[in-house]
Amino acid sequence: MKDADRRYYDERIETMPADAIAAMQVQKLAAQLDYINSQSPFYARKLAAAGALPGDIKSLDDLAKLPFTEKSELRQSQADHPPLGEHACVPMVDVVRVHASSGTTGTPSYVGITRFDKQRWIECIARSYWTQGLRPNDIFAMGMSIGFFVGGLPLSNTIEEIGATFLPIGTGATDRLITTIRSMSATTLATTPSYALYLAEIAREKMNLSVAELGIRKVMVGAEPGGGVPEIRARIEREWNAKCTESIGNADLITIHSAECEARDGCHFLVPDYLVMEIIDPDSGAVLTLDRPVVEGELVLTHLDRQCNPMLRFRTRDRVVVNTAPCSCGRTGPRLRCIGRTDDMLILRGVNVWPSAVKDVVMSFAPEVSGHMVIMIDAPGPKVDPPLKIRVETGPGIAPDIALAKRIEQRLREKLIFTASVELVPYETLPRAEMKTRLIEHNY
Ligand SMILES: [Zn+2]
Repeated sequence: MKDADRRYYDERIETMPADAIAAMQVQKLAAQLDYINSQSPFYARKLAAAGALPGDIKSLDDLAKLPFTEKSELRQSQADHPPLGEHACVPMVDVVRVHASSGTTGTPSYVGITRFDKQRWIECIARSYWTQGLRPNDIFAMGMSIGFFVGGLPLSNTIEEIGATFLPIGTGATDRLITTIRSMSATTLATTPSYALYLAEIAREKMNLSVAELGIRKVMVGAEPGGGVPEIRARIEREWNAKCTESIGNADLITIHSAECEARDGCHFLVPDYLVMEIIDPDSGAVLTLDRPVVEGELVLTHLDRQCNPMLRFRTRDRVVVNTAPCSCGRTGPRLRCIGRTDDMLILRGVNVWPSAVKDVVMSFAPEVSGHMVIMIDAPGPKVDPPLKIRVETGPGIAPDIALAKRIEQRLREKLIFTASVELVPYETLPRAEMKTRLIEHNY
Protein backbone atom coordinates (compact mmCIF):
# COMPACT_ATOMS: atom_id res chain seq x y z
CA MET A 1 0.00 0.00 0.00
CA LYS A 2 1.26 3.48 -0.82
CA ASP A 3 1.85 5.76 2.16
CA ALA A 4 -0.67 8.24 0.80
CA ASP A 5 -3.43 5.58 1.02
CA ARG A 6 -2.81 4.52 4.60
CA ARG A 7 -5.19 5.46 7.39
CA TYR A 8 -4.53 5.34 11.10
CA TYR A 9 -8.08 6.07 12.18
CA ASP A 10 -9.44 2.91 13.84
CA GLU A 11 -13.17 3.53 13.59
CA ARG A 12 -14.11 0.34 15.44
CA ILE A 13 -12.05 1.22 18.52
CA GLU A 14 -12.38 5.01 18.40
CA THR A 15 -16.19 5.09 18.15
CA MET A 16 -16.89 2.01 20.28
CA PRO A 17 -19.76 2.44 22.77
CA ALA A 18 -18.84 2.31 26.47
CA ASP A 19 -20.44 -1.10 27.14
CA ALA A 20 -18.57 -2.73 24.27
CA ILE A 21 -15.33 -1.16 25.51
CA ALA A 22 -15.97 -2.55 28.99
CA ALA A 23 -16.61 -6.05 27.63
CA MET A 24 -13.41 -5.94 25.58
CA GLN A 25 -11.39 -4.63 28.52
CA VAL A 26 -12.62 -7.22 31.03
CA GLN A 27 -11.58 -10.00 28.70
CA LYS A 28 -8.13 -8.55 28.06
CA LEU A 29 -7.64 -7.65 31.71
CA ALA A 30 -8.19 -11.25 32.83
CA ALA A 31 -5.41 -12.44 30.54
CA GLN A 32 -3.07 -9.62 31.57
CA LEU A 33 -3.62 -10.27 35.29
CA ASP A 34 -2.86 -13.97 34.84
CA TYR A 35 0.29 -12.96 33.02
CA ILE A 36 1.63 -10.51 35.61
CA ASN A 37 0.70 -12.81 38.48
CA SER A 38 2.69 -15.67 36.97
CA GLN A 39 5.63 -13.66 35.53
CA SER A 40 6.32 -11.00 38.16
CA PRO A 41 7.04 -11.70 41.86
CA PHE A 42 6.36 -7.98 42.46
CA TYR A 43 2.77 -8.23 41.22
CA ALA A 44 2.19 -11.71 42.65
CA ARG A 45 3.07 -10.31 46.10
CA LYS A 46 0.89 -7.22 45.64
CA LEU A 47 -2.12 -9.26 44.53
CA ALA A 48 -1.68 -11.76 47.34
CA ALA A 49 -1.34 -8.98 49.93
CA ALA A 50 -4.61 -7.49 48.69
CA GLY A 51 -6.27 -10.91 48.86
CA ALA A 52 -7.05 -10.63 45.16
CA LEU A 53 -6.93 -13.38 42.57
CA PRO A 54 -6.75 -12.63 38.86
CA GLY A 55 -9.93 -14.71 38.38
CA ASP A 56 -11.91 -12.36 40.66
CA ILE A 57 -12.26 -9.79 37.91
CA LYS A 58 -15.72 -10.26 36.43
CA SER A 59 -16.42 -6.65 35.58
CA LEU A 60 -14.46 -3.41 35.35
CA ASP A 61 -15.86 -2.39 38.74
CA ASP A 62 -13.88 -5.28 40.25
CA LEU A 63 -10.67 -3.53 39.24
CA ALA A 64 -11.13 -1.24 42.25
CA LYS A 65 -10.45 -4.27 44.49
CA LEU A 66 -6.91 -4.51 43.16
CA PRO A 67 -4.02 -2.51 44.64
CA PHE A 68 -2.60 0.69 43.13
CA THR A 69 0.97 0.83 41.90
CA GLU A 70 2.98 3.85 42.98
CA LYS A 71 6.06 5.28 41.29
CA SER A 72 8.03 4.85 44.55
CA GLU A 73 7.36 1.08 44.47
CA LEU A 74 8.74 0.90 40.94
CA ARG A 75 11.89 2.73 41.99
CA GLN A 76 12.36 0.37 44.94
CA SER A 77 11.73 -2.67 42.77
CA GLN A 78 14.43 -1.47 40.37
CA ALA A 79 16.89 -0.61 43.14
CA ASP A 80 16.46 -4.09 44.65
CA HIS A 81 16.38 -6.00 41.38
CA PRO A 82 18.28 -4.16 38.67
CA PRO A 83 18.13 -3.41 35.87
CA LEU A 84 14.35 -3.40 35.23
CA GLY A 85 12.95 -4.50 38.57
CA GLU A 86 10.73 -7.37 39.67
CA HIS A 87 7.83 -5.73 37.90
CA ALA A 88 9.50 -6.68 34.61
CA CYS A 89 7.86 -9.81 33.22
CA VAL A 90 10.44 -10.85 30.61
CA PRO A 91 14.17 -11.68 30.64
CA MET A 92 16.54 -9.03 29.22
CA VAL A 93 17.08 -11.13 26.09
CA ASP A 94 13.52 -10.21 25.08
CA VAL A 95 13.97 -6.48 25.71
CA VAL A 96 14.65 -4.53 22.49
CA ARG A 97 14.96 -1.05 24.00
CA VAL A 98 15.10 0.74 27.33
CA HIS A 99 13.75 4.23 28.02
CA ALA A 100 14.31 6.35 31.11
CA SER A 101 11.83 8.61 32.80
CA SER A 102 12.91 12.23 33.14
CA GLY A 103 13.73 11.68 36.81
CA THR A 104 12.40 14.91 38.32
CA THR A 105 13.10 13.42 41.75
CA GLY A 106 16.70 12.50 41.06
CA THR A 107 17.07 8.80 40.31
CA PRO A 108 16.02 7.90 36.78
CA SER A 109 13.74 4.91 36.43
CA TYR A 110 13.96 2.61 33.44
CA VAL A 111 11.25 1.19 31.24
CA GLY A 112 11.89 -1.75 28.94
CA ILE A 113 9.96 -2.68 25.83
CA THR A 114 9.85 -5.94 23.89
CA ARG A 115 9.39 -6.21 20.13
CA PHE A 116 5.64 -6.66 20.81
CA ASP A 117 5.49 -3.63 23.15
CA LYS A 118 7.27 -1.52 20.54
CA GLN A 119 4.73 -2.53 17.89
CA ARG A 120 1.75 -1.81 20.18
CA TRP A 121 3.19 1.63 21.00
CA ILE A 122 3.53 2.41 17.30
CA GLU A 123 -0.11 1.39 16.63
CA CYS A 124 -1.43 3.41 19.56
CA ILE A 125 0.70 6.53 19.01
CA ALA A 126 -0.11 6.49 15.28
CA ARG A 127 -3.81 6.64 16.21
CA SER A 128 -3.10 9.67 18.40
CA TYR A 129 -0.99 11.54 15.86
CA TRP A 130 -3.52 10.80 13.11
CA THR A 131 -6.23 12.25 15.36
CA GLN A 132 -4.07 15.37 15.73
CA GLY A 133 -3.92 15.66 11.96
CA LEU A 134 -0.49 14.28 11.06
CA ARG A 135 -0.50 12.87 7.51
CA PRO A 136 2.04 11.10 5.23
CA ASN A 137 2.83 14.33 3.36
CA ASP A 138 3.89 16.12 6.54
CA ILE A 139 7.51 16.96 7.30
CA PHE A 140 7.93 16.58 11.04
CA ALA A 141 10.55 18.57 12.93
CA MET A 142 11.41 16.89 16.23
CA GLY A 143 11.93 19.60 18.83
CA MET A 144 12.15 17.26 21.81
CA SER A 145 14.98 15.14 23.15
CA ILE A 146 15.66 11.97 21.18
CA GLY A 147 17.85 10.20 23.79
CA PHE A 148 16.38 8.07 26.55
CA PHE A 149 13.20 10.17 26.57
CA VAL A 150 10.03 8.15 25.97
CA GLY A 151 8.91 10.89 23.57
CA GLY A 152 11.98 10.37 21.37
CA LEU A 153 12.46 7.12 19.45
CA PRO A 154 8.82 5.94 19.85
CA LEU A 155 7.73 9.09 18.00
CA SER A 156 10.39 8.49 15.36
CA ASN A 157 9.07 4.93 14.84
CA THR A 158 5.51 6.21 14.61
CA ILE A 159 6.15 9.10 12.23
CA GLU A 160 7.98 6.76 9.88
CA GLU A 161 5.15 4.20 10.17
CA ILE A 162 2.60 6.85 9.20
CA GLY A 163 4.89 7.74 6.30
CA ALA A 164 5.55 11.37 7.22
CA THR A 165 9.15 12.60 7.10
CA PHE A 166 10.94 12.59 10.45
CA LEU A 167 13.65 15.19 11.05
CA PRO A 168 15.54 14.00 14.17
CA ILE A 169 16.81 17.38 15.32
CA GLY A 170 16.16 17.24 19.06
CA THR A 171 16.98 19.89 21.60
CA GLY A 172 20.26 21.61 22.42
CA ALA A 173 20.74 23.57 19.21
CA THR A 174 18.00 26.11 18.73
CA ASP A 175 19.48 27.71 15.62
CA ARG A 176 19.91 24.32 13.95
CA LEU A 177 16.27 23.49 14.66
CA ILE A 178 15.11 26.73 13.09
CA THR A 179 17.48 26.46 10.13
CA THR A 180 16.37 22.87 9.46
CA ILE A 181 12.68 23.79 9.64
CA ARG A 182 13.35 26.41 7.01
CA SER A 183 15.58 24.44 4.68
CA MET A 184 13.44 21.28 4.80
CA SER A 185 10.13 23.20 4.57
CA ALA A 186 8.89 21.39 7.67
CA THR A 187 5.10 21.53 8.16
CA THR A 188 4.92 20.21 11.71
CA LEU A 189 6.78 20.89 14.92
CA ALA A 190 6.58 18.60 17.96
CA THR A 191 7.80 20.08 21.20
CA THR A 192 6.84 21.16 24.70
CA PRO A 193 4.67 24.31 25.01
CA SER A 194 7.48 26.17 26.76
CA TYR A 195 10.03 25.29 24.09
CA ALA A 196 7.64 26.37 21.32
CA LEU A 197 7.57 29.83 22.91
CA TYR A 198 11.28 29.83 23.71
CA LEU A 199 12.08 29.11 20.04
CA ALA A 200 9.95 32.04 18.95
CA GLU A 201 11.74 34.31 21.41
CA ILE A 202 15.25 33.16 20.43
CA ALA A 203 14.50 33.42 16.70
CA ARG A 204 13.31 36.98 17.13
CA GLU A 205 16.19 38.11 19.32
CA LYS A 206 19.17 36.21 17.99
CA MET A 207 18.21 35.57 14.36
CA ASN A 208 15.98 38.56 13.75
CA LEU A 209 13.34 36.21 12.42
CA SER A 210 9.66 35.65 13.08
CA VAL A 211 8.87 31.93 13.34
CA ALA A 212 5.47 32.73 11.83
CA GLU A 213 7.30 32.94 8.48
CA LEU A 214 8.76 29.44 8.67
CA GLY A 215 5.72 27.70 7.17
CA ILE A 216 4.94 25.42 10.14
CA ARG A 217 1.20 24.62 10.03
CA LYS A 218 0.89 22.30 13.03
CA VAL A 219 2.54 22.67 16.42
CA MET A 220 1.99 19.45 18.37
CA VAL A 221 2.77 19.92 22.03
CA GLY A 222 2.99 17.60 25.03
CA ALA A 223 5.21 16.33 27.86
CA GLU A 224 4.06 19.12 30.22
CA PRO A 225 0.76 20.86 30.92
CA GLY A 226 0.33 24.13 29.03
CA GLY A 227 -0.90 23.20 25.57
CA GLY A 228 -4.43 23.25 26.92
CA VAL A 229 -4.04 26.54 28.80
CA PRO A 230 -5.89 29.14 26.69
CA GLU A 231 -3.34 31.98 26.95
CA ILE A 232 -0.39 29.69 26.26
CA ARG A 233 -2.10 28.05 23.30
CA ALA A 234 -3.15 31.41 21.84
CA ARG A 235 0.39 32.71 22.12
CA ILE A 236 1.89 29.59 20.46
CA GLU A 237 -0.60 29.91 17.59
CA ARG A 238 0.09 33.61 17.18
CA GLU A 239 3.86 33.20 17.24
CA TRP A 240 3.95 30.28 14.80
CA ASN A 241 0.88 31.19 12.74
CA ALA A 242 -0.08 27.53 13.11
CA LYS A 243 -2.66 25.29 14.77
CA CYS A 244 -1.63 23.96 18.16
CA THR A 245 -2.84 20.56 19.38
CA GLU A 246 -2.01 18.77 22.58
CA SER A 247 -1.46 15.17 23.63
CA ILE A 248 -0.99 13.41 26.97
CA GLY A 249 1.22 10.44 27.79
CA ASN A 250 3.37 8.90 30.48
CA ALA A 251 6.83 7.32 30.49
CA ASP A 252 5.71 4.23 32.40
CA LEU A 253 2.66 3.59 30.22
CA ILE A 254 2.99 4.87 26.66
CA THR A 255 4.29 8.01 24.96
CA ILE A 256 0.77 9.20 24.08
CA HIS A 257 -2.56 7.80 25.22
CA SER A 258 -4.83 10.80 24.63
CA ALA A 259 -4.82 13.42 21.89
CA GLU A 260 -6.93 16.23 20.48
CA CYS A 261 -9.15 15.89 17.42
CA GLU A 262 -10.00 18.79 15.10
CA ALA A 263 -12.56 20.07 17.66
CA ARG A 264 -9.61 20.70 20.04
CA ASP A 265 -11.72 20.52 23.16
CA GLY A 266 -9.52 18.23 25.24
CA CYS A 267 -7.56 15.06 24.49
CA HIS A 268 -9.65 12.00 23.58
CA PHE A 269 -8.55 8.89 25.45
CA LEU A 270 -7.78 6.84 22.34
CA VAL A 271 -6.39 3.51 23.50
CA PRO A 272 -9.09 1.54 25.40
CA ASP A 273 -7.65 -1.59 23.78
CA TYR A 274 -4.29 -0.90 25.46
CA LEU A 275 -5.09 0.79 28.79
CA VAL A 276 -7.98 0.89 31.24
CA MET A 277 -8.59 4.43 32.45
CA GLU A 278 -9.83 5.18 35.97
CA ILE A 279 -10.30 8.57 37.60
CA ILE A 280 -9.86 8.57 41.36
CA ASP A 281 -10.20 10.94 44.25
CA PRO A 282 -6.48 11.54 44.96
CA ASP A 283 -7.03 11.73 48.72
CA SER A 284 -9.32 8.75 49.38
CA GLY A 285 -8.33 6.64 46.36
CA ALA A 286 -12.04 6.07 45.60
CA VAL A 287 -12.92 5.58 41.95
CA LEU A 288 -15.04 8.42 40.55
CA THR A 289 -17.83 7.46 38.18
CA LEU A 290 -18.01 9.45 34.96
CA ASP A 291 -21.75 10.00 35.31
CA ARG A 292 -21.50 13.79 35.15
CA PRO A 293 -20.39 15.71 32.05
CA VAL A 294 -17.25 16.95 33.80
CA VAL A 295 -15.32 15.07 36.51
CA GLU A 296 -11.98 16.06 38.04
CA GLY A 297 -9.53 13.69 39.66
CA GLU A 298 -6.28 11.78 39.33
CA LEU A 299 -5.65 9.63 36.27
CA VAL A 300 -4.97 5.95 37.02
CA LEU A 301 -4.09 3.57 34.19
CA THR A 302 -3.74 -0.20 33.81
CA HIS A 303 -2.05 -1.97 30.90
CA LEU A 304 -4.09 -4.55 29.01
CA ASP A 305 -1.32 -6.08 26.96
CA ARG A 306 2.11 -4.97 27.98
CA GLN A 307 4.89 -7.54 28.07
CA CYS A 308 7.94 -6.01 29.70
CA ASN A 309 6.97 -3.51 32.43
CA PRO A 310 3.19 -3.72 32.82
CA MET A 311 1.42 -1.28 35.12
CA LEU A 312 -1.48 -2.25 37.37
CA ARG A 313 -3.62 0.70 38.50
CA PHE A 314 -0.64 3.03 38.14
CA ARG A 315 -1.09 6.38 39.87
CA THR A 316 0.08 8.86 37.25
CA ARG A 317 -0.21 11.86 39.64
CA ASP A 318 -1.74 13.72 36.69
CA ARG A 319 -4.73 15.78 37.81
CA VAL A 320 -7.20 15.72 34.93
CA VAL A 321 -10.57 17.20 34.08
CA VAL A 322 -12.61 14.62 32.14
CA ASN A 323 -15.30 15.68 29.69
CA THR A 324 -17.67 12.90 28.62
CA ALA A 325 -20.04 15.00 26.49
CA PRO A 326 -20.33 13.74 22.87
CA CYS A 327 -17.76 15.22 20.47
CA SER A 328 -18.52 16.40 16.94
CA CYS A 329 -15.81 14.07 15.55
CA GLY A 330 -17.75 10.97 16.64
CA ARG A 331 -15.01 9.53 18.81
CA THR A 332 -16.36 8.10 22.06
CA GLY A 333 -13.19 8.35 24.16
CA PRO A 334 -13.62 10.81 27.06
CA ARG A 335 -11.64 14.03 26.64
CA LEU A 336 -8.95 14.87 29.16
CA ARG A 337 -7.31 18.12 30.09
CA CYS A 338 -4.30 17.76 32.38
CA ILE A 339 -4.30 20.68 34.80
CA GLY A 340 -1.10 19.73 36.57
CA ARG A 341 0.77 17.17 38.60
CA THR A 342 -1.00 16.32 41.86
CA ASP A 343 2.37 17.04 43.54
CA ASP A 344 2.34 20.62 42.16
CA MET A 345 -1.02 21.66 43.57
CA LEU A 346 -0.93 24.38 46.20
CA ILE A 347 -3.64 25.13 48.73
CA LEU A 348 -4.10 28.72 49.90
CA ARG A 349 -6.71 29.15 52.61
CA GLY A 350 -8.62 26.14 51.28
CA VAL A 351 -8.43 27.20 47.63
CA ASN A 352 -6.68 24.82 45.20
CA VAL A 353 -4.18 26.70 43.07
CA TRP A 354 -2.55 25.13 40.00
CA PRO A 355 0.70 26.65 38.71
CA SER A 356 -0.54 26.28 35.11
CA ALA A 357 -3.61 28.38 35.94
CA VAL A 358 -1.40 31.06 37.50
CA LYS A 359 0.69 31.09 34.35
CA ASP A 360 -2.45 31.46 32.24
CA VAL A 361 -3.41 34.62 34.13
CA VAL A 362 0.13 36.02 34.07
CA MET A 363 0.43 35.46 30.33
CA SER A 364 -2.74 37.44 29.70
CA PHE A 365 -0.55 40.50 30.46
CA ALA A 366 1.71 39.93 27.42
CA PRO A 367 3.45 41.88 25.88
CA GLU A 368 3.93 43.71 29.20
CA VAL A 369 5.22 40.39 30.56
CA SER A 370 7.40 37.84 28.73
CA GLY A 371 5.38 34.86 29.97
CA HIS A 372 8.22 33.51 32.12
CA MET A 373 7.36 33.23 35.80
CA VAL A 374 8.12 31.16 38.85
CA ILE A 375 6.24 30.56 42.10
CA MET A 376 8.51 30.78 45.15
CA ILE A 377 7.67 28.36 47.96
CA ASP A 378 9.38 28.67 51.35
CA ALA A 379 7.99 25.61 53.15
CA PRO A 380 6.83 22.11 52.15
CA GLY A 381 3.28 22.22 50.67
CA PRO A 382 0.69 21.73 49.56
CA LYS A 383 -0.62 24.28 52.09
CA VAL A 384 0.90 27.72 51.59
CA ASP A 385 0.32 30.81 53.68
CA PRO A 386 -0.79 33.77 51.58
CA PRO A 387 0.39 35.82 49.88
CA LEU A 388 1.78 33.45 47.25
CA LYS A 389 5.11 34.85 46.07
CA ILE A 390 5.41 34.96 42.30
CA ARG A 391 8.36 36.27 40.32
CA VAL A 392 7.25 37.51 36.92
CA GLU A 393 9.48 38.63 34.07
CA THR A 394 8.55 41.75 32.13
CA GLY A 395 8.43 41.81 28.34
CA PRO A 396 11.24 43.15 26.12
CA GLY A 397 11.74 46.88 26.69
CA ILE A 398 9.32 47.01 29.66
CA ALA A 399 10.73 48.24 32.95
CA PRO A 400 9.42 46.50 36.10
CA ASP A 401 7.01 48.85 37.89
CA ILE A 402 4.76 48.59 40.90
CA ALA A 403 1.55 49.46 39.05
CA LEU A 404 1.92 46.46 36.71
CA ALA A 405 2.67 44.14 39.65
CA LYS A 406 -0.48 45.38 41.40
CA ARG A 407 -2.62 44.80 38.30
CA ILE A 408 -1.34 41.21 38.03
CA GLU A 409 -2.05 40.62 41.74
CA GLN A 410 -5.55 41.96 41.31
CA ARG A 411 -6.37 39.80 38.30
CA LEU A 412 -5.04 36.70 40.11
CA ARG A 413 -7.31 37.52 43.03
CA GLU A 414 -10.31 37.97 40.73
CA LYS A 415 -9.73 34.88 38.58
CA LEU A 416 -8.23 32.36 41.00
CA ILE A 417 -9.38 33.70 44.37
CA PHE A 418 -6.07 33.89 46.20
CA THR A 419 -3.71 36.64 47.31
CA ALA A 420 -0.42 36.96 45.48
CA SER A 421 2.67 39.06 45.96
CA VAL A 422 4.14 39.70 42.52
CA GLU A 423 7.77 40.69 42.13
CA LEU A 424 8.63 41.90 38.64
CA VAL A 425 12.10 41.18 37.27
CA PRO A 426 13.66 42.48 34.03
CA TYR A 427 13.36 40.65 30.73
CA GLU A 428 15.69 37.64 30.30
CA THR A 429 16.49 37.19 33.98
CA LEU A 430 14.49 33.98 34.58
CA PRO A 431 15.99 30.69 33.29
CA ARG A 432 14.69 29.17 30.04
CA ALA A 433 14.18 25.42 29.81
CA GLU A 434 14.42 23.44 26.60
CA MET A 435 12.28 20.59 27.81
CA LYS A 436 10.05 20.88 30.84
CA THR A 437 9.67 24.21 32.57
CA ARG A 438 9.53 24.30 36.33
CA LEU A 439 6.86 26.68 37.54
CA ILE A 440 7.67 26.25 41.22
CA GLU A 441 10.95 26.96 43.01
CA HIS A 442 11.26 25.36 46.44
CA ASN A 443 13.42 27.35 48.85
CA TYR A 444 13.56 25.29 52.03
ZN1 LIG B 1 -13.40 14.77 18.98
